[in-house]
Amino acid sequence: MCNCIAEVTKKLREHYDGKFKKPIESLQLQTYIDFNSGRLGTYTEVKIALVDQKKVETASLVHTFCPFCGVRLREKEA
Ligand SMILES: [Zn+2]
Repeated sequence: MCNCIAEVTKKLREHYDGKFKKPIESLQLQTYIDFNSGRLGTYTEVKIALVDQKKVETASLVHTFCPFCGVRLREKEA
């Protein structure tokens, strides 16, 4: 298990600090808590547009491997 989410969040905050007209209150990656392990994981939001529907549906594509360092985040499915 890596510490990339915390490290990347910290680096992003440092990178963007002072680049906006107002100070940063918070900065957050797309993360979720895996209730089986209690660990944070990352995901990509998938947008699904349907024919004749204005509301775009969304789904979450959970990352098996850390997108920053490649370490496995999720156990193999049994
Ligand atoms: Zn990582």
